[in-house]
Amino acid sequence: MTPTAAQPSSPLPIMKTVGDLRAQVAAWRRDGLTVALVPTMGALHDGHLGLVRRARDLADRVVATIFVNPTQFAPHEDFDRYPRDEAGDATKLAGAGCHALYAPDVRAMYPQGFATAISVGGPAEGLCGTFRPQMFGGVALVVTKLFLQALPDVAVFGEKDYQQLMVIRRFTRDLDIPVRVEGLPTVREADGLAMSSRNAYLSADERSRAPELYRALTAAAEALARGGEADGALTAIRSRIAEAGFGSIDYVELRDAETLEPVTAALRPARLLAAAWMGKARLIDNVGVPPSL
Ligand code: AMP
Repeated sequence: MTPTAAQPSSPLPIMKTVGDLRAQVAAWRRDGLTVALVPTMGALHDGHLGLVRRARDLADRVVATIFVNPTQFAPHEDFDRYPRDEAGDATKLAGAGCHALYAPDVRAMYPQGFATAISVGGPAEGLCGTFRPQMFGGVALVVTKLFLQALPDVAVFGEKDYQQLMVIRRFTRDLDIPVRVEGLPTVREADGLAMSSRNAYLSADERSRAPELYRALTAAAEALARGGEADGALTAIRSRIAEAGFGSIDYVELRDAETLEPVTAALRPARLLAAAWMGKARLIDNVGVPPSL
């Protein structure tokens, strides 16, 4: 048997235009296949690949997208230095069983004269919405565009960005977008640190301290589940991560797991969420808190 020739340029088809994306999805639809979408900003790690594997379980064909979305970054943020490695990402995606990559450029997504915005409330309020006020509007805009461009049956997002997942669920429901939104639990390094493309900003010393964020959240969630009081749990997280070398703490909060409204006790499923700076990296993490009654 003649072995299949290796593709010289890419291990999986890479589409750059919405026309090519729609043609590919239409061809799959004609064959009666279902389609899952996995939106990312690239610099892929095992967390992203977990989304692809989950998407494979949910649909016949999986399209990953890579787009570092300028509308969700403020001017002082890390848009320009955000890590980019499209060729390496394509190899990883193919290894995880992804069927195609959609990687449009900025001009294709936001052509000259683009003048539309989406305003989000509800779960977008507070937490990262306070510290990165432009972010969720930008996420809503790009995810809505990706949904309408690909028209997938289902899309998979990570609980690592828990508030983002809740915002996406809400605007998808509010705008009647016919896409099922699925969440995947956070994929972690062996020492508990949530995998993130931004972990690349950590020095070796900072990297060794960073898992304390997850440990502090987990310990506090256990205390709350045993009936502990919220103020004490939040204070314990703050002092533990400050001691571990986190500099500025943006927030540590207890919220309702579904609506993300602030709560003072875990009477219903709740979520502990935190964002704090370790050196030049802004790390976020969150854990579930089961009801204590
Ligand atoms: P990003 O490339 O950071 O925009 O993330 C793209 C998608 O991957 C989002 O749905 C994230 O929530 C998800 N994601 C990122 N890191 C992880 C992780 N450690 N575990 C699970 N999902 C993740």
